[in-house]
Amino acid sequence: MEATRRRAQQRGKGKTSERIEQTSQWGRAWEVDWLSLIGVISLLCFAPFIVFYFVMACDQYECSITQPLLELYRGEATLLSIWARTSFLTWTAAKIYTAWVSFQVRFVANMRKLKQFLPGYVGGVQDGARTPAGLINKYEINGLQCWLITHALWFANAHYFHWFSPTIIFDNWIPLMWCCNILGYTVSTFAFIKAYLFPTNAEDCKFTGNIFYNYMMGIEFNPRIGKWFDFKLFFNGRPGIVAWTLINLSYMAKQQELYGHVTNSMILVNVLQAIYVLDFFWNEAWYLKTIDICHDHFGWYLGWGDCVWLPYLYTLQGLYLVYHPVQLSNYHAVAVLLLGLIGYYIFRSTNHQKDLFRRTDGSCSIWGRKPTYIECSYRSADGGVHRSKLLTSGFWGVSRHFNYTGDLMGSLAYCAACGFGHILPYFYIVYMTILLVHRCVRDEHRCSSKYGKDWKRYTDAVPYRLIPGVF
Ligand code: NDP
Repeated sequence: MEATRRRAQQRGKGKTSERIEQTSQWGRAWEVDWLSLIGVISLLCFAPFIVFYFVMACDQYECSITQPLLELYRGEATLLSIWARTSFLTWTAAKIYTAWVSFQVRFVANMRKLKQFLPGYVGGVQDGARTPAGLINKYEINGLQCWLITHALWFANAHYFHWFSPTIIFDNWIPLMWCCNILGYTVSTFAFIKAYLFPTNAEDCKFTGNIFYNYMMGIEFNPRIGKWFDFKLFFNGRPGIVAWTLINLSYMAKQQELYGHVTNSMILVNVLQAIYVLDFFWNEAWYLKTIDICHDHFGWYLGWGDCVWLPYLYTLQGLYLVYHPVQLSNYHAVAVLLLGLIGYYIFRSTNHQKDLFRRTDGSCSIWGRKPTYIECSYRSADGGVHRSKLLTSGFWGVSRHFNYTGDLMGSLAYCAACGFGHILPYFYIVYMTILLVHRCVRDEHRCSSKYGKDWKRYTDAVPYRLIPGVF
C-alpha cells in the first residue's frame, strides 16, 4: 500500500515532495492526533448501530429510546431477541433501491442537456472553488431538475398511475436500511481503493499514514468517474437529499392510511424540510463553495453518511409522527412555523451575503451599504499566491458562522413540531449542534492555517462564532 501511495502522489504530474509539503499548509489534516483517531474509530464502530437503534426503537418500541435499554437491563429482552424481531434485507427492498439509485444515476447522465431552465436559477457547468493543489474543477449543476422530475413522477404515480403505493418507503424502511448500508460501504471502500490505484487528481490526495483515518475522512478530494460523475455532488445530492422529501411524503401517506387524516405536525415537518431541500437544489451552484465540496475529502464520512445517516436520521421526525400522530394547538403550530421560517431566513440570507460578496469581489451592497472586509492572502500547493476577502458586515459581522445559527433554529423547529412526548425526535437538534460546532472549530482551524495573521485580524473584528456575547 505504501508503494502505491507514493506512486499515486508522484503521478501528480511529477509533483515533488516540496509541493506536497506546501499543500500541508491548509486543507484536511496530514497528521492524526490520538483524540481524532479515537473519535474516528468510535464513529466507524458505533454510527451504524446508532442508526439501527433509532429505527428499531420506532419499529419495535413505538419510538421510545429508553424502553429497549430498560428491557435489556431487566432481562426482559436480549440483543438476540431484538435482532430476531428486526426485518432483514428483502428482494423487494433490493429491487426498489437498485431502481432508485439507477434512476438517479441515469438522470445525472441525461440531464446534462438541460441548462438554464428557470429564470434566476444557476445551472449547467459551474466552477468549484480552488482546491489546495490549485485546481478548479467543473461541475454539472442539474439537481433542481432531478428533484422536480423525481417528485413530479412521485405525485403522478400517487394520484394517477398507481404503479406502487406512496407508503412504499415506510413499508420497506428496515430492509431498505440494509441496502443503504451496502451502498454506503461499497462506495466508501471503492473510493478508498481508487485513491491508491487510480485517483482523479493525485495532487489533491491526502494520506495520513493511518488507515482508519484515511478510510473515514477520505483520501481523494474530488473522486470522479469520467468527466462528470462527481462522487461528492452525486452521493450527497441525489440518493441522499432528493430522497429526504420523498421519505417524508411516504410518512405522510402512511399517516393518512393508518389514521384517515394527516396531522398539522406532519404537514409542518414536510413543509419546513421541503423548503430546506429545495433551497439546496435551487442554490446548488452555491453548494460548490461550501466545506463539503471545497474542503472535505471523500471517504466513509461523506459516502456512508450520505447513503445511510442522512436519509435515516434527518427524517426521524416524520417517522416518529407515523407512530405518534401529534396534532398541535394553533399557537404551538404557529410558533414552530415562525421559528422555522426565521431560522431559514437567517440561514439563507447569511449564505447569500457571502456568496454575493465573493462573486462580485466585494462590489455589492449588504444591508444597503458597501460591505466592510479584511483583505487576506494565501498560498496554494503550486506555489501561487492568491488574494481573498473576509466579509465583516451584514450577518457576517454579527458572528463568524451566523448561517449555522439559522440552521440550528430551523432544526429545532422540526423537532418542536413533534411536541414534547418523547426525546427521539429531538436527536436531530442534538446531532446538528454537535455537527455544526465541530464544523465551526474544524473550519476555523483550517482558515487559520490558510490565512495566518489575516485570520487573526478577522477574529478580532468578529469575535463570536455562533451567538454574539455567548459563543
Ligand atoms: P460556510 O458556508 O460558512 O463556509 C465556510 C467557508 O467560508 C470558510 O471555510 C471560508 O472559506 C469562507 N469564509 C469564512 N468566513 C468568511 C467571511 N467572513 N467572508 C467570506 N468568506 C468566509 O460553511 P459550510 O460550508 O459548513 O456551510 C454552508 C451551509 O450549509 C451552512 O448554512 C450550514 O448551516 C449548512 N450545512 C448543513 C448541514 C446539514 O447537514 N444540514 C451540514 C453542513 C452544513 P475560504 O477558504 O473560501 O475563505
